[in-house]
Amino acid sequence: MGRVFMIDLDGNKYACKHCETHLALAEDIVSKSFHCRHGKAYLFDKVVNVTSGEEEERMMMTGMHTVVDIFCVGCGSIVGWKYEAAHEKSQKYKVGKYILERFQVLGPDGSNYSISHDTQMVGSDADEM
Ligand SMILES: [Zn+2]
Repeated sequence: MGRVFMIDLDGNKYACKHCETHLALAEDIVSKSFHCRHGKAYLFDKVVNVTSGEEEERMMMTGMHTVVDIFCVGCGSIVGWKYEAAHEKSQKYKVGKYILERFQVLGPDGSNYSISHDTQMVGSDADEM
C-alpha cells in the first residue's frame, strides 16, 4: 500500500471530522436545503479525496435516484453520497453532484455539528424544499 494521494484545498473548506482530510469548499455549495438520516446535508458541485461505493437505487423524498456512497480516503468513513442518475426530470440538476452529511464534516471555522435526533426519516432523504 502506497501513500494515499490527497488534494489540499485552499479557502473556506469542509473537512472530514475524523481525520481532517479536506473534502470540499464552501464556494462549491449548491444548496444547503438537503437532509440526510442524521440532520442537515449540503449539496456540493465538487468534492475531493473521496472514494465511491457500489451504485444503488435509493428512494429519496423526491423520487428514485441512482446513488453511490462516498467515503473519506483518509479514514474510510462514509461522508455522504453522489448522484449518478435521477429518474424524475426535475431532479436531474443533482446528477454528478455530491451530498456531504453535515454531522460528518467540520465546517470552515472548525465547527462541528451534532446529530439531530428529531430527524427520523426512512433511509437517506435528499430534497430541495
Ligand atoms: Zn476521514
